[in-house]
Amino acid sequence: MTKIPYKIYLSEDEMPTQWYNVRADMKNKPAPLLNPATLQPLKKEELEPIFCSDLCDQELDNDTKWFDIPVEIQDFYKMCRPSPLIRAYYLEKALDTPAKIYYKFEGNNTSGSHKLNSAIAQAYYAKKQGLKGVTTETGAGQWGTALSMACSYFNLDCQVYMVKCSYEQKPFRREVMRTYGAKVTPSPSQTTEIGRKILAEHPDTTGSLGCAISEAVEAAMTQEGYRYVLGSVLNQVLLHQTIIGLEAKTALDKYGVKPDIVIGCAGGGSNLGGLISPFVGEMLRGEADYRIIAVEPASCPSFTRGKFAYDFCDTGMICPLSKMYTLGSQFMPSANHAGGLRFHGMSTILSQLYADGYMEAKAVEQTEVFEAATQFARVEGILPAPESSHAIRAAIDEALKCKETGEEKTILFGLTGTGYFDLYAYEKFNNGTMSDIIPTDDVIRESLAKLPKVE
Ligand SMILES: *Cc1c(COP(=O)(O)O)cnc(C)c1O
Repeated sequence: MTKIPYKIYLSEDEMPTQWYNVRADMKNKPAPLLNPATLQPLKKEELEPIFCSDLCDQELDNDTKWFDIPVEIQDFYKMCRPSPLIRAYYLEKALDTPAKIYYKFEGNNTSGSHKLNSAIAQAYYAKKQGLKGVTTETGAGQWGTALSMACSYFNLDCQVYMVKCSYEQKPFRREVMRTYGAKVTPSPSQTTEIGRKILAEHPDTTGSLGCAISEAVEAAMTQEGYRYVLGSVLNQVLLHQTIIGLEAKTALDKYGVKPDIVIGCAGGGSNLGGLISPFVGEMLRGEADYRIIAVEPASCPSFTRGKFAYDFCDTGMICPLSKMYTLGSQFMPSANHAGGLRFHGMSTILSQLYADGYMEAKAVEQTEVFEAATQFARVEGILPAPESSHAIRAAIDEALKCKETGEEKTILFGLTGTGYFDLYAYEKFNNGTMSDIIPTDDVIRESLAKLPKVE
């Protein structure tokens, strides 16, 4: 058999031209979004004032298996795609494991993460609809960065509400966004009614993602020609991210490689869902079997300690209700350096797959995540994002198990981004001052007691 190269690159012609909608192959469809006032499934007319029209269709479609990727989006993708699938020869050697490890690297663009895959799609549909611009929130900053790049490409106005503490702690992310022409406002702000209300009640607050979502939604609803966009959790985002899994599978198929285990970090579930979709599709159709592992932070353990129930997607409780594994919309995860994984809920698609036994989940602590990140950076060269390093941790653990048992398993994991804007976190780790804050059972019970009553 041909030796597998360190990097498997696909040519531009081999890049997928359609996204795969895994919902079409699911027997148990993900539960519909509900209108919080009527508790009835949301109709397109109710979503359209908030989201772009074509994206509403994608959000609600459980049946269409393949969606064409518009040529304009394919053209943009070609700037940084197909992304490389890398055989982690050096990591395997360092671990002295018989396991074969592959990772799909999504950090090869200026925004530094997979979020650009959906940002460019969402900006495209907004432009196609003739909108002036979009509004959004950003916590850690990766989504805001990706969206500002995408908006500048299509010449759309981009308004980002950035959680205030992150706005102050990550000035460089903010400047990347501004360089791409986005207007970045620290949240809570005086520019929205909800922001003014929160500031009046809590003048010293450093903000939260839930609050920034509420401001961004209000900003979209009150300006003519604007819609709100979101970088994770939604079905449409997971759909766009299937480019990751489709490319990875094409590359592996080329060399006749079938992974035994597929691993990804899970925040709102978009990169994991995108990576695993083509593999899970085969499982759903009874064609193949894989072990799928979702990795989440022990500080925000939606899958492993949450409840599968209808809940609000935002702290402000204005967004639709979604049936998902949740810790409760009022759950405040402790400060964790993997900002992209600090969401109380999870994609409804992944939640249903997990409930149906197609996936496992595991929670890992921050310090062991940075140990894995450091080990990986030293041998593979890439400085990984803290979020991505959750997947590295789990991949290393599985490879070490293979070392004990002598099994030559093939492991594929998603390396979602680079960590250059997370050096404050690396500094804490290097200084030995990083701590792990894990919620107690009481805290989770209290938060879950406040779930909306739906059934
Ligand atoms: C946002 C982010 C994540 C988590 O988001 P998902 O929607 O769960 O994929 C993971 N890694 C990076 C680098 C991110 O920016």
